[in-house]
Amino acid sequence: MTATTFAALPLAAPLQRVLQELQYTTPSPIQQQAIPILLEGRDLLGCAQTGTGKTASFALPILHSLQKNPTKAKTRSCRALVLAPTRELALQVGKSFATYGKYVPFRHTLIYGGVGQNPQVQAMQRGVDVLVACPGRLLDLVNQGHVDLSQVEFFVLDEVDRMLDMGFLRDVKRIVALLPAKRQSLFFSATLAPNIVELAHSILLDPTHVSITPETTTAEKIDQQLCFVNKESKRPLLEELLRSQAQAHTQKLTIVFSRTKHGANKLAKNLTAAGFPADAIHGNKSQAQREKALDRFKKGLTPVLVATDVAARGVDVKEVGLVINYDLPNEPEAYVHRIGRTARAGADGRAVSFCSEEELEYLRDIEKTIRMPIPAWTTHSWHEESIASRHQRGASSQTPHSQKTTQGNQRNRHSRHRRSPQAGR
Ligand code: AMP
Repeated sequence: MTATTFAALPLAAPLQRVLQELQYTTPSPIQQQAIPILLEGRDLLGCAQTGTGKTASFALPILHSLQKNPTKAKTRSCRALVLAPTRELALQVGKSFATYGKYVPFRHTLIYGGVGQNPQVQAMQRGVDVLVACPGRLLDLVNQGHVDLSQVEFFVLDEVDRMLDMGFLRDVKRIVALLPAKRQSLFFSATLAPNIVELAHSILLDPTHVSITPETTTAEKIDQQLCFVNKESKRPLLEELLRSQAQAHTQKLTIVFSRTKHGANKLAKNLTAAGFPADAIHGNKSQAQREKALDRFKKGLTPVLVATDVAARGVDVKEVGLVINYDLPNEPEAYVHRIGRTARAGADGRAVSFCSEEELEYLRDIEKTIRMPIPAWTTHSWHEESIASRHQRGASSQTPHSQKTTQGNQRNRHSRHRRSPQAGR
């Protein structure tokens, strides 16, 4: 049985109260599927990305259990452990627990690197109900004897695909080895590659599978466009786009993705000089700098945020109306994550990707992964037909003969006029 309203779910009164205050009436598909399973105490293997409401899908059942069974956490221990790949995601998840658990008497804390460890050690002294942690720093503190994982009742691995991309596999395995056998485990990943499924099955016990396919979050709600452009013309094209966005008085925020930290800094500086206030976030920025930049972005003081992939994980800002891939990502999954920064929580959004000659290979991988061609936008001032043609030739040489479209159709696909910049939202 799936509940179509939160009121129909057997969640404790303090949670129902906060959901009413937040005006969440309808559980998202992942919440509809996952919450009843988790309330039964079963393990879960969830295929879902951020923006689908997955945080509440695990935070609500955990808070429900803490409310129903309020035993005191032991010193240096936690009752629920959530592992997140980045500080930003950890902060986001911690904030969600605080929001949803507003009326539940529970203690929570965060553990992540890049900041002094003493406040984290102190916070763990008395024990906490919920610990949200990044694997590296958590293991450091465990090894120093400041954290004890033997009392974990709920174990959540969030964004496992990203965790593995970032090289955390060994750390995750070490952490799992320290957990008690009797526990409820939840595992979330945006993709389920064979190595991820293998890891899941080594951690979960007879899990229920729940899958929210990325296609529904990417293809349906996000207006995706592709610009074939020379490397040197990317800057003027970006400015053209931002100008049309400003002219349309949309008041929406824009995230621009850059492949490198240096590129992100340079872009933010140039955009600011050109009259588009921008900030950059990336791995070389301190935690305080990143938080400040995010805060200014959310308030609309710097409506353009230039980010690298790692830094943008967990950025959850509802008003992001436009995502620009200034550089295409070299991992196709990152494309799905990036464009998922827009169209959050049911809003619709637009994602424009720039592709230069050097990036055609990345584009082919992305289109293979999302199983559709990204509609080309050919009427902007910097369109480069020679790059579009090379892409067409590459695409047709990969198409099996029986499925080959006629040359006319291929051309048509790439010259489809989607939206002029002036028509921006
Ligand atoms: P997440 O996928 O957990 O990052 O959530 C994406 C956004 O959706 C967050 O801003 C949540 O606050 C919001 N959200 C989660 N569940 C619901 C819901 N059932 N109704 C409305 N908004 C929600």
